Amino acid sequence: MSVFDSVLGQEQAVNELKRACTDAAKVARGERGDAMTHAWLVTGPPGSGRSTIALAFAASLVCPNGGCGTCVDCRNVATGIHPDVEHVIPEGVVYTVAHADALIERASLSPSRSSWHVIVVEDVDRFQLNAVPKLLKSIEEPPPNTVWILCAPTVDDVLPTINSRCRHVLLNSPTLSDVASQLTSRFGVDSAMAAFAARAAQGHLGRARALATDEQARLKRSEILDIPTRLSTVSSCYEIANAIVANANAEADRAIAPLEQQDEQDVRMAFGEGAEGKGFKSIDRAIKSEMKALEKRFKDRRRRMVADAYDRILLDLTGYYRDILVVQSGSHVGLINEELRPAIERIADQDETAQTLNRIDAIREARDQLIANVTPLSVFESLLVTLRDPKLVRVGK
Ligand SMILES: [Zn+2]
Repeated sequence: MSVFDSVLGQEQAVNELKRACTDAAKVARGERGDAMTHAWLVTGPPGSGRSTIALAFAASLVCPNGGCGTCVDCRNVATGIHPDVEHVIPEGVVYTVAHADALIERASLSPSRSSWHVIVVEDVDRFQLNAVPKLLKSIEEPPPNTVWILCAPTVDDVLPTINSRCRHVLLNSPTLSDVASQLTSRFGVDSAMAAFAARAAQGHLGRARALATDEQARLKRSEILDIPTRLSTVSSCYEIANAIVANANAEADRAIAPLEQQDEQDVRMAFGEGAEGKGFKSIDRAIKSEMKALEKRFKDRRRRMVADAYDRILLDLTGYYRDILVVQSGSHVGLINEELRPAIERIADQDETAQTLNRIDAIREARDQLIANVTPLSVFESLLVTLRDPKLVRVGK
């Protein structure tokens, strides 16, 4: 088993990063290791698994076994709570100078339990111009044990000054049939399910795998696709928006709680809680401060899970209206939601193309508002009210 097992496809990139990991161990021992460097830029289209491969590489660097995928270091990177791996995502639309300052300060810290302190920065194209110069210095001459892994959609999105200081890892865009065949060969998914999942996930590997292997994920998806035909009254829009937000939060809580317990136990064990005699007070203080740091990491992790849940809903709704548009335009390209074809054809027939375009725009706007930190409940309320069309409500509901 290896942390890179979670990366689907991308053989060339994985081999390069595995070599880097082997050399990183040499560098940590004071030897020469040319395949390792302290600044990386990972680019690839949405769904190519940028953050998956960046975090797998991070895990391989902090794991004592080079990324075994099973030890406590690997597990903690996967759940977003490893003290030496920071996974940074923009809190708002952009990274400001203040964000850059905070990042650089954190980058100056030595690793606490491994040889490397790894900082994975998502959407590095969102740094404000005036925040970049400060960042550059740290990327160019980081503290000896710090590794930057920057992620962006394409090299063109990244300022040349950043790009020129990093080693570039390019990820390919997987095709639907690539995704489907990966699901079959690596996870034993039957070919009909694999084809459905690849299509429904719109080529997004991680999402396709969840849909193919988890019935709950499929059920949740069909509930999302049911939303447009349930928006009968304005008050039903408010009720459904409320349920969306409540479910996303409850789901994140359910996923986090067991991890939180396990990790608290690990911290207490690591610090030898319960020990008596000289020094036990300082142990107590150390546990308290580690617990506080842990709490913050869990809070960040939870925030990301909720944001991912909202993102999935918007992606599925966009696919649904995109299908309606395909039918309305008389195009013969395949539908993302082929299994809903009769319902989609009925709606396409009753509605205007201009209305469908308005709805797709409204979803895009909702995504921008969430990125800009507008309250999710009000984002979904106003989105659903915009999507609502009484004549499209399913008969009998
Ligand atoms: Zn490991």
